Amino acid sequence: MKLINTIAALKTLLEPLKTAQKRIALVPTMGALHKGHVSLIDLAKQQADIVVCSIFVNPTQFTDPKDLEKYPRPLEHDIKMLEDAGCNIVFMPSVKEMYPVKENWHIDLGNAEFLLEGEFRKGHYQGVTQIVKKLFDAVNPDLAFFGQKDFQQVLMIENMVRYFKLPVQIITCPIIREGDGLAMSSRNIHLSAEDRQHALVLSKALYYVKEHFAAEPVAELLAVAKKMIDSTPGVVLDYFTIANGETLLPESDKQVKNLVALVAAKVGETRLIDNVLLS
Ligand code: AMP
Repeated sequence: MKLINTIAALKTLLEPLKTAQKRIALVPTMGALHKGHVSLIDLAKQQADIVVCSIFVNPTQFTDPKDLEKYPRPLEHDIKMLEDAGCNIVFMPSVKEMYPVKENWHIDLGNAEFLLEGEFRKGHYQGVTQIVKKLFDAVNPDLAFFGQKDFQQVLMIENMVRYFKLPVQIITCPIIREGDGLAMSSRNIHLSAEDRQHALVLSKALYYVKEHFAAEPVAELLAVAKKMIDSTPGVVLDYFTIANGETLLPESDKQVKNLVALVAAKVGETRLIDNVLLS
């Protein structure tokens, strides 16, 4: 496994592989890796010859400076995990490497940019698409792998790919959960033992909705799910919605394809998101 810090070195390494017609996959991450990230590497290995994993805590997508500061960065652990997962190249640039000069990035990501996470984290998806575009430019991958865990993020990246007509295929990978249902996340490390128990209500509420979806009206499902969350100590709900998976607008018609239930809440001091596909 090669460790690379600069775009120039990455391009030099990838050029002969591209000339040899190797299929290149990119798995962008912010590090603090867990089995969810490894599942993306596994899927990438199945579909490509070379897997590049980037580790970069992107400052432009953080709306809360404290969140950026306390984001975990266990680099040695990450490198070992990627080595064990069979990753070929790790790209770990500095902030200066990715942002040598100040930029005013803004692209039209559609109305869904401003809903859900976009409402609670203003400008978040401009920052996300900005760094993903830079990583695509640096790697020029045939395929890029993202987790359904960040449902809205995949949608925004697909919109960005369409906007620039980029020659990359976006692959969405399923959510990997702990045995008790909690969606794996780098932020789970901040949960106290009590928070960790309380956080389970998020996946429980989502699975309640999924299991009762055929039998109960949407309004009833939402009411029960919100009540479950609101009655859990230490959990403050930002949103729980059943939405159209393309527009992210609330949807009460169960016949609509692409329905998804999405939740975001603060558990103690930690903000968590999760979702489940309904149709
Ligand atoms: P992050 O390091 O949190 O930016 O995540 C890097 C990639 O891993 C993103 O595409 C995430 O959606 C994905 N990911 C994060 N958590 C999970 C999970 N529990 N299961 C599957 N993919 C995940």
